[in-house]
Amino acid sequence: MRITRRTLLIGAGAGVLGVLLASCTPEPAPSPTPDRSPTPKPTSDAITPAAFARSSWSTDPFALGAASFTPVGTQATARDALAEPIDDRLFLSGEATDSEAPGTMAAALRSGERAAEQLLRAADAGERVAVIGAGLAGATAASRLVADGLQVTVFEARDRVGGRIHSVVDDKAWPFPAQLGGWLFVASDNALLDSLNALDIRTAPIAGSLWRSSEGDVGAVSAEPVQAAIATAQQGLTDTSLEDALTAAGADPTEPGLAALLASIAASSGADADEASTWFPPILPADEYTAPLADLTPVVEGLLEGAKLSLSSPVSRVAYDEAGVSLGIASGESLSFDRVLITVPLGVLKSEGLQFAPALPFGHRGAIDDLGMGRIETVWLRFDDPLIAATPPAEGETEGETDAAAEPAIWHVVGGDVSIRTWINLAPATGENIVVGLVGGDAAADFAELDDQKALEAAIASLAPFLTAPA
Ligand SMILES: Cc1cc2nc3c(=O)[nH]c(=O)nc-3n(C[C@H](O)[C@H](O)[C@H](O)COP(=O)(O)OP(=O)(O)OC[C@H]3O[C@@H](n4cnc5c(N)ncnc54)[C@H](O)[C@@H]3O)c2cc1C
Repeated sequence: MRITRRTLLIGAGAGVLGVLLASCTPEPAPSPTPDRSPTPKPTSDAITPAAFARSSWSTDPFALGAASFTPVGTQATARDALAEPIDDRLFLSGEATDSEAPGTMAAALRSGERAAEQLLRAADAGERVAVIGAGLAGATAASRLVADGLQVTVFEARDRVGGRIHSVVDDKAWPFPAQLGGWLFVASDNALLDSLNALDIRTAPIAGSLWRSSEGDVGAVSAEPVQAAIATAQQGLTDTSLEDALTAAGADPTEPGLAALLASIAASSGADADEASTWFPPILPADEYTAPLADLTPVVEGLLEGAKLSLSSPVSRVAYDEAGVSLGIASGESLSFDRVLITVPLGVLKSEGLQFAPALPFGHRGAIDDLGMGRIETVWLRFDDPLIAATPPAEGETEGETDAAAEPAIWHVVGGDVSIRTWINLAPATGENIVVGLVGGDAAADFAELDDQKALEAAIASLAPFLTAPA
């Protein structure tokens, strides 16, 4: 079946949605926004994806956001302040404490190694140590501490490990796991790519971009003017936002092409252009990625070997003095350790989801207050039939038989009033009709508020320019 503009605009039918939602596993379950609008009625030619999954990091109480960013006016040294050991009892880790590439898996890994080294310098042999959080930072730290002979207990609030890395394994819905959190690797992620190789995890290259409006293909939007505006703004006496830097350079951030590029920056950094610093700018999206096509949980589980793991154990209180640290677990238990390594996300620290006694030093509280927690949401859609992507059929090809391998994998939606402007098309690399939408900044927060039906409709409507062949 070839998907036409008419069919896609009809959107998803309510009957099928119930089946689709069996594969939609946001965690923890989002509280759907009360929705009084009528349920769309399916019609015989309505298209629906065969599988649908979405994230809800913005509302997830154990994340409260997706990735930290440096807001305009904040110094990157805030991250170093957050990484300072406290009385040689508390050691903070997690992507927000890394100033090299915050908001990434590489940052989480590096921060786990750094905090473990700090703790080991203070610890005596065989000490009892707790790690709060079994994400990549916590698991990396635990691995290092176990290797040095410490007795390590990892407390994880969820009933799974991985944190903001979350592979949804559901063989009926997905030919390979849907990744609702961190999953795309760049060339510099050597250590992580090595772990994937060691575990024989299948990967796919993601490359080539396609920019399209409802009128058809538009020219690729270059990131060079953004880089130039950042470079100029970095010469200024005060930090300016990315939006102001672009405006000062004569660009119009609301121009549809530039807006689509800024949306893709928000979808990878979590920050909108009006809040992102130019002195410490977000990492611009890469041209090429490596996507894992497997469950990433074993990567984290492997690192946790040798540590005692306590799942479904949210820590609510950390009391510390010169003798040691006492942890209050939400179940009411209280446990004592020599030292504690904390990896909870910045969003959790900002919300005071973890109480400290005594309060954290001013330097740490200032950093928590100053740094920003960005919003990113992702949606996975699988279709039974090929999507129409790049070009009309070439000579010799019939409709629906375009050369998938030649299709660009990174799609940008230019113009229109849509929720999700950045899409990864997994068809060229995998042969599966799967597209992954990524949305960041305020648009992600808005998307997270939608109930599942509305989120699915918004995703399908966003994809519209890519579901019809250009004229
Ligand atoms: C949608 C999305 C897309 C992303 N895409 C990419 C990407 O393509 N490439 C990339 O490099 N990075 C990406 N990232 C970022 C990357 O996933 C994170 O930077 C990284 O996984 C963070 O690891 P962490 O260990 O610092 O934090 P987390 O993984 O959040 O680990 C912290 C752990 O602490 C637990 N916790 C929280 N509160 C408590 C408590 N009170 N008690 C006990 N445990 C608690 C949490 O449940 C969690 O398991 C993405 C993130 C998101 C959300």
